[in-house]
Amino acid sequence: MTNTPRITIAIDGFSSCGKSTMAKELARRIGYIYIDSGAMYRAVTLYCLDNNLIIDNTVQRDALAQAMENIKIGFVTNPTTGKQETYLNGVCVEKEIRTMRVSQCVSLVSQIDFVRTALVAQQRAMGEAKGIVMDGRDIGTAVFPDAEMKIFVTASARVRAERRAAEMEDADIDAIERNIAMRDETDMTREISPLRKADDAIELDNSHMTIAEQDAWLKARYNEVIERLNP
Ligand code: C5P
Repeated sequence: MTNTPRITIAIDGFSSCGKSTMAKELARRIGYIYIDSGAMYRAVTLYCLDNNLIIDNTVQRDALAQAMENIKIGFVTNPTTGKQETYLNGVCVEKEIRTMRVSQCVSLVSQIDFVRTALVAQQRAMGEAKGIVMDGRDIGTAVFPDAEMKIFVTASARVRAERRAAEMEDADIDAIERNIAMRDETDMTREISPLRKADDAIELDNSHMTIAEQDAWLKARYNEVIERLNP
């Protein structure tokens, strides 16, 4: 009987490039936990917006630092849909954290040092037992630098905006593309844990791939890693 090792899988890349779709599907297929680290930054951002901690596009750092211990983020699987949903202080915020209101402010919040320190600590605790697929911007570089499998996903900004627009009603595709480009820029140029490909990550440009093709590509990479670890 073969004993398949349980590993850590880090999937990083640009905004709206389908990281979470492929990460979730791989986790489901191989029976791993899936964590959407972006949802955690979005939940902190929603808390800020709902508590007037962002004024004139500026995060009120001192007030947020004090509030951090009152911000409890969790993930619960909805028994009806089978989908994982994000909770903020016991309330399901899955829909609200995906709105443009949150998307427009999230990179202001995600560049704050103490926010990152707190969320990275929670992310590492979630991955302690391995058997985890986590997607984000700094998973392979900062959260799990020793992950056995690292993927870096890219796609053109227009393709990404078109995919996001297809999921929304009455989408303004140009506004979505501007938001994506703005977040790419802020995420890549921030001081702490900027978005970049880890040296040992495998790059995937999925601009011209179907979801089924990218799922198959990812599963093949996973099989290779397992084969390498357990020949
Ligand atoms: O993945 P998603 O687009 O939902 O992430 C929202 C934002 O959260 C990103 O634009 C980025 O600013 C931040 N983020 C981050 N580090 C992560 C995941 C997300 O800074 N690991």
